[in-house]
Amino acid sequence: MPNTKKTKIVATLGPATSNKDIIRDMINAGVDVFRINFSHADYDDVKERIAMIRELNEELGIFTAILADLQGPKLRVGVMGGEVVVSPGDEIVFETGEPFEGDAERVYMNYQNFPRDVNPGERVLLDDGKLIFEILETDHKKKVKARVVQGGPLKSKKGVNLPNTNISLPALTEKDVKDALFAIGQQVDWIALSFVRYSQDLIDLQNLIRENSEHKIPIVAKIEKPEAVQNIDKIVSYCDGLMVARGDLGVEIPAQEVPLIQKKLVLRAKKARIPVIIATQMMETMITSLTPTRAEVNDVANSVMDGADAVMLSGETSVGNYPVQVIEKMSSILHSVEGSDLIKVPQEPPHIRTKRYITKSVCYHAALMANEIKAKAISTLTNSGYTAFQISAWRPSAHILVFTSNKRILTQLNLLWGVKAFYYDRFVSTDETIEDVNAIACKKGFLDVGDMLISLAAMPIKAKGMVNTLRVTEIETCSF
Ligand code: PGA
Ligand code: MN
Repeated sequence: MPNTKKTKIVATLGPATSNKDIIRDMINAGVDVFRINFSHADYDDVKERIAMIRELNEELGIFTAILADLQGPKLRVGVMGGEVVVSPGDEIVFETGEPFEGDAERVYMNYQNFPRDVNPGERVLLDDGKLIFEILETDHKKKVKARVVQGGPLKSKKGVNLPNTNISLPALTEKDVKDALFAIGQQVDWIALSFVRYSQDLIDLQNLIRENSEHKIPIVAKIEKPEAVQNIDKIVSYCDGLMVARGDLGVEIPAQEVPLIQKKLVLRAKKARIPVIIATQMMETMITSLTPTRAEVNDVANSVMDGADAVMLSGETSVGNYPVQVIEKMSSILHSVEGSDLIKVPQEPPHIRTKRYITKSVCYHAALMANEIKAKAISTLTNSGYTAFQISAWRPSAHILVFTSNKRILTQLNLLWGVKAFYYDRFVSTDETIEDVNAIACKKGFLDVGDMLISLAAMPIKAKGMVNTLRVTEIETCSF
């Protein structure tokens, strides 16, 4: 049986997923994309994992994708000397400059412009918002005095969020540039950028990729800052996918606002016909338990019903006790809801008459028609992957089978909802191509005798032009 789940699973690599058998089991259980979190990555380690995944792809005849996730300007406190617990009303100084061991009086902050960027009255949130401070004064050089509003244990290297501060750091830090160059060298399929605020952040990364890679690497903008939510229209124009990064987003803005923002971001991505990943705490309790909470099961299901292309696991697979079981559970939730008639992602048909308008329109009608005639699959031949994005966005009930001779996009497309890619490099007549392609789809278990199939092609095939043709076939034989 092929993996017929349509919503994709992104699983973060980590110490819990260091051996090939576990990675194989995770793929077999439903992982479509592995994410490398560069906040914690060691290059040699990453190289080894990537090699393992690619070996498994060869071995299993599949195209698991690799997503490199750049840390962005993540602010952190330094190492603490001992156990420090702060209480409301306590005063503490955050200091930049040379790192030092923190105590109850002073704590190191890894963000050198902190004293210049903050203003009295602004809030400093630590450790996912568990601790809250209010800025009292800054010397504008090195030291910032703050009062504890919500106390608790102040732990080493915890993340810092400044929801009210206009941070002067670029989205692409020195570390990110180094990590991006490494990721480009490893030919990853997607690169995600954290804490995006402006379209310029994405343009900077695009330029870096263009200057250092022969191939386009699509970018996922991680939406986790209030500025990104405000600037979403511009951001969407400069990226190839979105991530609803609920971990930081829920600290940067009140957590109760995240559910509606999630829905808006999904709709925005669907309108642009780019994939959207829902991330963080989806199956959190499965880090240590074999049973997810009912709320978690509902969250995964509701994300699918919102229209998510992919759901992501972080700690659950990177450091969790049950990296395989969590994928099995997640796959079963996806299978159980994704075919429901209750899912209606409102979308407008393509109407802007760009040079791709006809292709867009053919894809749209293929999806509509597939539902109407209950086609089992829509197949498309593509060199850029463009039609895969277009068809996927309409969420047809048919499988989207993508055939390409471009090896680079085989794995890339694995993030897209409902898309299965196959290698195909013959350039013969349309009739022959469609026969070939049908044979592959049969062999892989996606088609059977009697099934209806919609095939998209660019005629003439040899010209490798834009899709302009839709053909309907009833499969008469599957014994090739
Ligand atoms: P992170 O991103 O895990 O890299 O922080 C996801 C999130 O913030 O939700
Ligand atoms: Mn984040």
